[in-house]
Amino acid sequence: MPAFDFTLLSQDGAARRGRVMTAHGSFETPGFMATATAGTIKGMHPDAVRATGAELAICNTYHMMLRPTPERVAALGGLHKFMNWPGPILTDSGGFQVMSLAKLRQITEQGVTFRSHLDGSAHELTPERSMEIQHLLDSNITMCLDECTPHPATHEVAAASMRMSMRWAERCRQAFVKREGYALFGINQGSTYPNLREESAAALKQIGFDGYAVGGLAVGEGQEMMFRMLDATVPFLPEDKPRYLMGVGKPDDIVGGVLRGIDMFDCVMPTRSGRTGQAFTARGTVNIRNARHIEDKRPLDASCGCPACANYSRAYLHHLFRAEEMLGPMLLTWHNLTYYQTLMRDLRQATEQRNLQNFAAIFYEQQSRGDIEALA
Ligand SMILES: [Zn+2]
Repeated sequence: MPAFDFTLLSQDGAARRGRVMTAHGSFETPGFMATATAGTIKGMHPDAVRATGAELAICNTYHMMLRPTPERVAALGGLHKFMNWPGPILTDSGGFQVMSLAKLRQITEQGVTFRSHLDGSAHELTPERSMEIQHLLDSNITMCLDECTPHPATHEVAAASMRMSMRWAERCRQAFVKREGYALFGINQGSTYPNLREESAAALKQIGFDGYAVGGLAVGEGQEMMFRMLDATVPFLPEDKPRYLMGVGKPDDIVGGVLRGIDMFDCVMPTRSGRTGQAFTARGTVNIRNARHIEDKRPLDASCGCPACANYSRAYLHHLFRAEEMLGPMLLTWHNLTYYQTLMRDLRQATEQRNLQNFAAIFYEQQSRGDIEALA
């Protein structure tokens, strides 16, 4: 069984090109995870997801703990087998979605009690239980349970929240079952306060983790503030461990994150947007539901090799969404996942070639041009 390991292959400024090894294979960094919230990438067959270039899947502890339950997943052979994803899997701690989805939440030093958004049943999530659930799921990368500090927060509130998360991180480290090829990541918090971010990074480093995530961002603070917080945090994280920016983001957020030394990203945006008719392209976002596409024979993105672009016109994709056909969301999801994975591949290549600044300048210029001209 290979040990969990991060190899730094090359650097370009703060940006890093690396590789992470797990018990279920490796993934290249900077990398973007495939979002498999409830044990499935919505509307996509796993083989198709892998064909886009995705190597790491992220599943949500909150969803899996309520249904089908981690004990059941373990009895069925673990998440890799259950969802037919033999590659590496990362699970979140469940904390973020307890905060956003569950009812009657109550947070104490011990943990969080809440009622399921599905059937109202009562549950408790503690650092120890979160570690147990992620172990039962057989997740390769387990995330610490933390409190995602609400935004905005006063310095006092943010400090208290972050310090409790650091105490929980210590409990997670204690409860985590060490296995070869499996990792535990700590999560940096501290809201929009650089001194709290630095204090949190030091506390996590003191405990010692296999990787370090930056949490509590992309919660409404805006891109400029998010980048400022990365600048205030990343320099205090260990260089020899992978860094993960949680829940981010739009393509330009990812380029900015890579430039600042982030290795791993996840976001529902490519899959969720794909289901609502929004496509990401080299020339910015395209809403395929827009009437301008109704007779447009051209592909969604001529530079893209995905099945949606290779085999179908904008007019057909538009029709599928207007007719509410299932294939529409499937094809746009396929395209968006391909767009994100192609962007990551290009970012890795530009980092290897020490050409990232130039690549980023061209990327931002292309994005600002907007979609191709409508047909007359
Ligand atoms: Zn495409």
